[in-house]
Amino acid sequence: MVDMETLASLCKRRGIIFQSSEIYGGINGFWDYGPVGTELRRRIKETWWRNMVQWRENVVGLDTTIIAHPRTWEASGHLQSFSDPMVDCKQCKRRFRADELAEGAQVCPECGGALTALRQFNLMFQTHVGAAVDAASIAYLRPETCQSIFTQFRNVLGTSRMKVPFGIAQIGKAFRNEITPRNFIFRSREFEQMEMEFFCHPDDSRQWHEYWVSERLAWFRSVGIRATSLRIRFHAADELAHYAKACSDIEFEMPFGWSEMEGIADRSTYDLTQHSTHSGTPLEYFDQETNSRFVPAVVETSVGVDRTLLAILVDAYREEEVRGETRVLLALHPTIAPVQVAVLPLSQKLGDVALPLAQDLRREFATEFDVAGSIGRRYRRQDEIGTPFCVTYDFQSNEDHAVTVRHRDSMQQDRMAIGQVQQYLREHLTTALVQS
Ligand code: ATP
Repeated sequence: MVDMETLASLCKRRGIIFQSSEIYGGINGFWDYGPVGTELRRRIKETWWRNMVQWRENVVGLDTTIIAHPRTWEASGHLQSFSDPMVDCKQCKRRFRADELAEGAQVCPECGGALTALRQFNLMFQTHVGAAVDAASIAYLRPETCQSIFTQFRNVLGTSRMKVPFGIAQIGKAFRNEITPRNFIFRSREFEQMEMEFFCHPDDSRQWHEYWVSERLAWFRSVGIRATSLRIRFHAADELAHYAKACSDIEFEMPFGWSEMEGIADRSTYDLTQHSTHSGTPLEYFDQETNSRFVPAVVETSVGVDRTLLAILVDAYREEEVRGETRVLLALHPTIAPVQVAVLPLSQKLGDVALPLAQDLRREFATEFDVAGSIGRRYRRQDEIGTPFCVTYDFQSNEDHAVTVRHRDSMQQDRMAIGQVQQYLREHLTTALVQS
């Protein structure tokens, strides 16, 4: 399996991920996405949205603000209890999450210094809204996207023609002042979540929970992650949050061990009840069929974009020996590949005649046109960013109006008429899309 250092260096070299504010020395726990990474991220979000919203009758989308009324976090319980236990080293001043140190540790694992007593550290970032900086103006950057789905439940219900059971989905940034951000983009302080809250009758939540676990696992498979890299972990009763009836994590085998990618939880009626009590607004559902009123239970699916992207990269990374050289490639699923096809004129001289083909393909596929450098180097670049197809325009192309299509994984090359390329790619790329 690829180690994080090798992967991070590939990501930097190929414009996938950069350290945030690198020229100022970086800022711990924050990452930027380069041109290639931005495309990959966008595609992950698109496939999620397509799968969770567009293809379903019973899920609608929402887009809410990062800063919400501070009472939201009182009602959700984040103000009181969204914290991690923390200790500091008195000598080197490093900070640790107490639950990540050996049990009962009193001495710093880095320098051997004495540790402070344990304190609770709230993970929410604070800011102030308005000109005054006082207790009344304190607001928080959301640590998860779902709370506004609960607080907007009534508005969505009243305007979307949805009937329980139904879901509300949202993709957006979330912020957590993690004590120990690490493992590249796995745990960062600013990240993006894709969450869906499914509202159902409390008697049915168990069944919906099972349903969503299997749907979400299928989605991870559909973006190309191998079945052997994934597993489901059911939480034991003593691990559950006090309001949760059940929780299952989808875990991925990272170089540093099996790790949570997504949490799927049966949150019972906790969320709507809390917001209803704190706001004084009833958040109930009137079922016309049974002529009864109830507070819906919620089954949540919550996954990080960045963690998913990391899993995809780890899973797709391959090193192969080809004619005594190491070939590095990302065997990305064509649905999420940042570049779907690269048009490569064999020589700079062929640039002008090959350009119209790239322009045609660009309308339909994510296309890169690259004329500079040896063809071998250009193939290497495309392999390393996971481009499924390279189209090479050579000197003979001027004569026979044909080009060579090279497949990333097998390196097999097919010669075909220029006029057939579009249809060929359509078949190969769209088939992959339908299967996902
Ligand atoms: P962890 O135990 O790893 O801190 P969590 O159980 O607190 O995660 P949730 O609150 O369930 O995480 O968040 C749902 C999802 O959001 C996670 O499964 C993960 O994919 C993503 N996520 C949470 N925290 C971070 C973070 N700091 N950086 C990147 N992604 C995150």
